[in-house]
Amino acid sequence: MDGYIDAHVHLPDIAPGDGWTALARAKTAGVRRLVVCGTRPADWPLVRALAADEAVIPCFGLHPWMVAQYGDWRGELAEHLAAVPSGLGEIGLDRAARGIDYAQQEAAFIVQLRLARDLDRPAMVHCVRAWGRLVELLAEHAPDRFLLHAYAGSADLVPVLARRGAWFSFAGSVLHPGRDKARSAIQAVPPDRLLVETDAPALPLPGQAESRPEHLPAVVAGIADILGEDPESLRARLWHNACGLLGALLD
Ligand SMILES: [Zn+2]
Repeated sequence: MDGYIDAHVHLPDIAPGDGWTALARAKTAGVRRLVVCGTRPADWPLVRALAADEAVIPCFGLHPWMVAQYGDWRGELAEHLAAVPSGLGEIGLDRAARGIDYAQQEAAFIVQLRLARDLDRPAMVHCVRAWGRLVELLAEHAPDRFLLHAYAGSADLVPVLARRGAWFSFAGSVLHPGRDKARSAIQAVPPDRLLVETDAPALPLPGQAESRPEHLPAVVAGIADILGEDPESLRARLWHNACGLLGALLD
């Protein structure tokens, strides 16, 4: 049976201790599965604990904003990946992140992309203002399947990235007025490569101070509106698309 799936959410970043409550609320709202990403060694144990709930698809990764804060993270990452069926993420590149060495970001990204490829796991990728370099790195290191979460690139780049193995997800923030670039990108995504996320607690819907995983049905309804598609048919399509990205992790 399918249902709603949140393609990218940070339960550990929801106010301390509230990750479990947020998970329960999301399930009550009809969210059947959630791709829960860690961003740093400090939150990987909670991601692993949350994975005891069958709704949670865990991902472990070192986010580009975190690369300067952690030295030797590779062994711990490998241990979590080996312990539970999981993806790599959140990993990526961010040229807008002030004070974080870009070369260090890229080195960590390459290590983790290769890990995803070697272990045949999907990767959850963050990219801000580094699209040209991302395309180059993917040509050399990409796993077969990866998600560009909160996709902020151009519509023109969508087919190039899709050929490399990208799925594309969008959060509630694209429903704010003036987000024409994101709307064009949503319409450019191949029908079987689109996903929807809350990125909770970041990127909230208009009118919300913070994103929450239980907002997912409202985000799906808003994106259905952009596409001129029935929300229920989009919900079913998104589940099918998630199966393509996540494979056995969604069984
Ligand atoms: Zn994220």
